[in-house]
Amino acid sequence: MIYGNEQEGYTLACNYCEDEVDEVFDTFMDAVNYKKDHGWKNVKDKYDDWHELCPACSKPEIINKVKDGVVWDEPPKQSGNELARLAAIDEAEFEGF
Ligand SMILES: [Zn+2]
Repeated sequence: MIYGNEQEGYTLACNYCEDEVDEVFDTFMDAVNYKKDHGWKNVKDKYDDWHELCPACSKPEIINKVKDGVVWDEPPKQSGNELARLAAIDEAEFEGF
């Protein structure tokens, strides 16, 4: 991801390993160009969120993980399903008594 502002400059960080590039960029476009020149990849996951991966993380196995949205412990759109699943387990156990 690229974050920052015109005053303080922009920082580029990998969404997977969270490593930051040492360089601080004057403009957003400088950071975008750096990504192009250094083999960074933009990957869209199944929730339509974009993630920027550094060259070290631009491997098929990591890219596939990111696409599946399994990199983050609890993607917001899954937590509802997870709660429903846990509730179903509780209910099943209760009925067993
Ligand atoms: Zn990385």
